Amino acid sequence: MSFGTILISNDDGIDAPGLAALVASLSTRHKVYVVAPDRERSGVSQAFTLFNPLRADPAKARLPEGLVEDAWMCSGMPADCVKIGTMTLLAEDPPDLVVTGINKGANMGPDILYSGTVAAALEGHLAGLPAMAVSLVTGPSEGGSTSRHPHFATAGDWALRLIDELEQPLREGARDGWCVNVNVPDRPAEEIDGWVWTDQAQAHYDDRYVVHKDPTGRPHYWLEGELVLEDPRPDCDVAAVRAGKVSVTPLRPQLTHLEVLERLRAGS
Ligand code: MN
Repeated sequence: MSFGTILISNDDGIDAPGLAALVASLSTRHKVYVVAPDRERSGVSQAFTLFNPLRADPAKARLPEGLVEDAWMCSGMPADCVKIGTMTLLAEDPPDLVVTGINKGANMGPDILYSGTVAAALEGHLAGLPAMAVSLVTGPSEGGSTSRHPHFATAGDWALRLIDELEQPLREGARDGWCVNVNVPDRPAEEIDGWVWTDQAQAHYDDRYVVHKDPTGRPHYWLEGELVLEDPRPDCDVAAVRAGKVSVTPLRPQLTHLEVLERLRAGS
């Protein structure tokens, strides 16, 4: 009883190559629907649309021919796509799994808080479904290749393999309050050293705003920075990917720090 109908979404937008790669891979064995933002919406986390009308226009022609059952591009955020997909667009043929991505760029450590890709998977979880976010860790500093052509097909193959291999945990997660976040090193398939369960690395961005001036002299600001890993453990997400492994992390929307709560309640 493998997964039948899959809703795919992303935050890089309907025309992103990572979305096409995920569709190409998952459609080989599953019925696939796409509801994706009509433009790039990276870094919007769980934002959604409340005070504007939401549009979802037909978009089957924007995707590789003959692979999707149907597709829409939505004027809103990644979370809106999954909400409107599960609640309305796919009401007649409800999905039994939500997969988001393939994001261009890592969603590990602190990225997880900002990621629209992860948020869309969490939204699938909040809708009661098994859910998985998939990201390709591009950039040489993160253990990937320096190729100008990201290995989206590698990540697509891993997504297909993991939804089969992790079917039971994914179904358990839907019941028990968690979904799955996958990060794949940007390498050819044969250079990947398997997959491991990981947790979110302790890391931060060494950030700065670079200031430029308009021709009128008015300043504007661009955020730049590198990830600084404080976490020495080999089994956190960042370390696993740097070692050439696919990182698989269970994530939950429950943000309460349960161990601290227990200590505070005990009065110590
Ligand atoms: Mn993105």
